[in-house]
Amino acid sequence: NSVFAHIARGPEDPILGVTVAYNKDPSPVKLNLGVGAYRTEEGKPLVLNVVRKAEHMLVNDRSRVKEYLPIVGLADFNKLSAKLIFGADSPVIRENRITTVQCLSGTGSLRVGGEFLAKHYHQRTIYIPLPTWGNHPKVFTLAGLSVKTYRYYDPATRGLNFQGLMEDLGSAPSGAIILLHACAHNPTGVDPTPQQWEQIRRLMRSKALMPFFDSAYQGFASGSLDEDAQPVRMFAADGGELLVAQSYAKNMGLYGERVGALSIVCKDADVAGRVESQLKLVIRPMYSNPPIHGASIVAAILKDGNLYNEWTIELKAMADRIISMRKQLFDALRARGTPGDWSHIIKQIGMFTFTGLNSEQVAFMTREYHIYMTSDGRISMAGLSSKSVPHLADAIHAAVT
Ligand code: PMP
Repeated sequence: NSVFAHIARGPEDPILGVTVAYNKDPSPVKLNLGVGAYRTEEGKPLVLNVVRKAEHMLVNDRSRVKEYLPIVGLADFNKLSAKLIFGADSPVIRENRITTVQCLSGTGSLRVGGEFLAKHYHQRTIYIPLPTWGNHPKVFTLAGLSVKTYRYYDPATRGLNFQGLMEDLGSAPSGAIILLHACAHNPTGVDPTPQQWEQIRRLMRSKALMPFFDSAYQGFASGSLDEDAQPVRMFAADGGELLVAQSYAKNMGLYGERVGALSIVCKDADVAGRVESQLKLVIRPMYSNPPIHGASIVAAILKDGNLYNEWTIELKAMADRIISMRKQLFDALRARGTPGDWSHIIKQIGMFTFTGLNSEQVAFMTREYHIYMTSDGRISMAGLSSKSVPHLADAIHAAVT
């Protein structure tokens, strides 16, 4: 008899479990709109041309070896990642009051940041938006933080509940950590306007709330890396402290390479150095040091002017294709006379549309149309193509009528 015999089967992950169910479905018309991974018009995963080029360079460079990276990762990668999110002329970089460590994609960066805060920051409560990416509460709870929510989405308008957000941040205890999606909020596709960001910033700074940005989609929302980084740069420009977790999964299509970075902006260079020494003590017992290949790809692209330009063009093309899918789906529903106001499909930004479909309607679409999505009605626009839009529109129409 196994000593593990008492163990109950755990539930599938609510997002990755959608792919598990999709893979089991033999239907030729099946469509996976669950996981947020970019697909081409042909429905295929995309490796960016610029990534292929960088990999080619790396493979042909015989001087490259497979030694361990330092605990904090590849130095060039860290510097260039900070430059990417804060901007080349950022005072936080010029004044050297930032520490950046390479982590295992966005998730790993959030986890390392969370554990650092749980160990060394005076406030152990983190407020996350309602709703948010399903992994956030788990990552931060296991990091040792206590998780609370602030109002974010208003189902009635399918937009931002700005008043609720400001009230909840306003009544959070001084010093509390606030998780902010830097752009392309997941799952709602709803972001504050620049004016609203400014009001959020002022309120947070006046109460010494600590911003922890999750930047998983830089360049994917608007197609511009600089524009999507504006909220982070706005907070960095005021001289205050903050954390940001970056992921290269979506914007460079490096999902499985697990490349990301955690930056902590501090008041001065001396504090930043001490913070980095403590980040090393968080990372060492967790996984010793991060993997070398993906970070080398990113560094090669970010440091070469030509490759960088090529990347921005490929990134813009991905963002534009997603925006065009929004338009096509919206038009297809209008053409069918599907009841309801579907303008949120074109108003929301980033990888996802938060359709407003409920879990029964989602289950119906999966059962009758073989369309797979998370039960909260979120669909990945990046998984759609001109060919699959009519099928999805038929399914939504049938689900709501
Ligand atoms: N944050 C958000 C909001 C996300 O949507 C994701 C990816 N789905 C991540 C973080 C982290 O992804 P990864 O670990 O693959 O970079």
